[in-house]
Amino acid sequence: MAKEYFFDKADQTNAFITRLDVAMYEESGGPLQGKGIGISDNISTSGIPTTCASRILAGYVPPFDAHVITLLRKAGAAIVGKTNMDEFGAGNTTEHSAYGPTTNPNEASRVAGGSSGGSAAAVATGMVDMALGSDTGGSIRSPAAFCGVVGFKPTNGRVSRYGLIAYSSSMEQIGPLGKTVTDVNTLMSVIAGPDPRDATMYDRPYAHTPSKDIAGMKIAVPDEFFGEGVDPAVAESVRTAIRKLEDAGAETMTCSIPSMSHALAAHYVTGMCEASTNLSRFDGVRFGPPVETKRPWHEEFSDYRGMFFGKEVQRRILLGTFALTEGYYEKYYAKAQVARENMRKDFLRIFRDADIIAGPTMPQIAPKLGEKSDPISMYLADILTAPASLAGVPAISVPCGTVDKMPVGLQLIGRHFEDERVMDAAFAYESEVL
Ligand code: GLN
Repeated sequence: MAKEYFFDKADQTNAFITRLDVAMYEESGGPLQGKGIGISDNISTSGIPTTCASRILAGYVPPFDAHVITLLRKAGAAIVGKTNMDEFGAGNTTEHSAYGPTTNPNEASRVAGGSSGGSAAAVATGMVDMALGSDTGGSIRSPAAFCGVVGFKPTNGRVSRYGLIAYSSSMEQIGPLGKTVTDVNTLMSVIAGPDPRDATMYDRPYAHTPSKDIAGMKIAVPDEFFGEGVDPAVAESVRTAIRKLEDAGAETMTCSIPSMSHALAAHYVTGMCEASTNLSRFDGVRFGPPVETKRPWHEEFSDYRGMFFGKEVQRRILLGTFALTEGYYEKYYAKAQVARENMRKDFLRIFRDADIIAGPTMPQIAPKLGEKSDPISMYLADILTAPASLAGVPAISVPCGTVDKMPVGLQLIGRHFEDERVMDAAFAYESEVL
């Protein structure tokens, strides 16, 4: 039987682009029955506008549900709205949204992180029980760390991307955000599982009850995760958290990820090239604000793209298109794939001796709004989250204390398809501190 879910909380952080005052849910006895869920606005929802926080998709209402949405509905969830994000996922502060920035629930002058900033803020403020985001280089983990919630990027291929509007196809994943590891685990168990419509999927359903018994778990701590650019106070919080994991029975060791020196270049070249291709499908003719151009029909697309895409997205389309032109492909995209393979090999080598890699999620606490206005300083903030995306391995961010009253995230990274073990490590940490 269908029931009504009323959403009446004020949205002071601008976490939502579209909010349903009354959402319906099925009384199915499913694990999410009656739970209010926020959905990043790049995940297609039948009958509910889906904008990717871009003007170019204004007025688009998908006629179908993404696979994850079909699964949420079956599990009894109430989809209460579409959350704010950096346009098409391009950013890590949610300031690059056509609908204005999402502010940090802990301090309104600071950013919420991104690109899934709306999802994290909605969870942190209790506007939703849980949320879905997407993560290409940190977009679930960054806002989770900055807002003080749990955010998980699954192994690539574990959650279907059917209905996720594509940004960087080889890196992006849909994943859960919640207040606790248990909530994130529950949402993960609903959204994971095979889907023939996503050719990159593996047949690996997820049915797991997190265990806090991590006696003997081997945790590697990379020197590079505590190096240049990492705020010493953030580093100290995370080291304290890692000691808590030792108290819970884990054995720690140090390690090195030499390929980290190329991680950001590899991530951004790959992301921009794939974005320039994926975003070429938007012409602004059918959707987007109703604006007339005086130019002939075969030229009006470029006017629309210039008017309706934000600056950061345009920058990426231009750089990505340039990097893919003949003669430059080998110099940039092909080289980025070599760097990516080196990253994967570094992880495989470390994971011969260790079960989990631990470090900070973000090198600093949430910056002030406007502080990262030059692109390079924004890109640098992805240094600790891009590696897991390049290698395709699962990674979680769990809150681990505060610096200047702002939340800090502990990042735990696991082997391919060992999402369960990552969840256990996070659960053990959470149980130690709660
Ligand atoms: N911050 C990274 C970027 O701007 C990753 C974004 C994401 O994960 N979608 O590309």
